[in-house]
Amino acid sequence: MNSKNKNIFDYSKIKSAKDLEEIVSSIFCSEDLDKEQKKYKILGRNGLIQEFFDNFSYIQNILNIERSDLGIILNRIKSEYTEKLKDEIQDTRNNTNNTFDPTLEYKNQLIGGKHPLSVEVSKINEIMISLGFSEEEYPTLVTDFENFESINIPKEHPARDMWDTFWIDEKHLLKTQTTAFQNSILSRELKKGNDFKPIRAFTTDVCLRNEATDTRHEICFYQTEALYVEHNNSVNMVILLNLIRSVFSLYFDNSNIKVKTRPAFFPFVEPGIEVACECIFCGGKGCNTCSQSGWIEMGGAGLVHRNVFMNADESLKDKYSEYSGLAFGFGFDRMVLLKNKINDIRYFRNKDINIDLFKNTVK
Ligand SMILES: [Zn+2]
Repeated sequence: MNSKNKNIFDYSKIKSAKDLEEIVSSIFCSEDLDKEQKKYKILGRNGLIQEFFDNFSYIQNILNIERSDLGIILNRIKSEYTEKLKDEIQDTRNNTNNTFDPTLEYKNQLIGGKHPLSVEVSKINEIMISLGFSEEEYPTLVTDFENFESINIPKEHPARDMWDTFWIDEKHLLKTQTTAFQNSILSRELKKGNDFKPIRAFTTDVCLRNEATDTRHEICFYQTEALYVEHNNSVNMVILLNLIRSVFSLYFDNSNIKVKTRPAFFPFVEPGIEVACECIFCGGKGCNTCSQSGWIEMGGAGLVHRNVFMNADESLKDKYSEYSGLAFGFGFDRMVLLKNKINDIRYFRNKDINIDLFKNTVK
């Protein structure tokens, strides 16, 4: 007998082929076993029928029959119980007394979805694409050169104090503003020389700063940045202001939204402006959210500084003025905040976010 198999019944009691069938039948009719257990014990890899096949010669000797006859008997038993156990399982599925109906509709079931900020990022990206800009992806981990030096913030420049961030080592940091993407695009495109094609690029990405957080400041936030460059002097502040108004009126779905600009210093633009929207909480009268000013700052903008062009392509030293460009960068979380009348930017990354507050975002 094959010693690896368990002897789960007494072979000495087997006198005829009918005894084999009765052994199988006794398991099939057992009331102590459910259908899956019967299937396992009769048809399983270590089940009864497999054991008969493993001990084929031993059984053949006991029964004293032809090898081919025993093969026919065992195969018949196998196919009979395969069919019986299959029918039993189907009967269970078709049992009308079963109270579980897998086709019943779920009620009051919470369904997961995208974070409201992710939903809004898709919307602003669609708006930028509709205005003719193409999306550029850029990593969060950047070099000191990309984040600072290339955009006219050399080492020891006092402007670096405004953008303290998380440093990985002496050369690498988590980007503090999406402006870090400009050098890579400008280097790539300006070096094409006569094959240069106007740049209309944008990115919406996460930025990180070492900030003291309050209602309008977070250490982690989205920025939307646009870069528009022509190989002539056609880009000017009028185009910039019209572009900013278009972005705001499309995003807030309000062509009358009040946008205010005022001169401001940003090292990567000349001239530079600060862009603010009328405070939606007080209607411009002044409240705690807008620090009583009636306006909420959205970000900075301006015409691309000549040093940014030259840092991208040294050969432009004497001919940087052949190019003109504009750029803007908006704190995108603030735009979502304003759109949904939420008065604390920290709420977006709250672990217990109330989806009802985003009624203008999640329909
Ligand atoms: Zn206000």
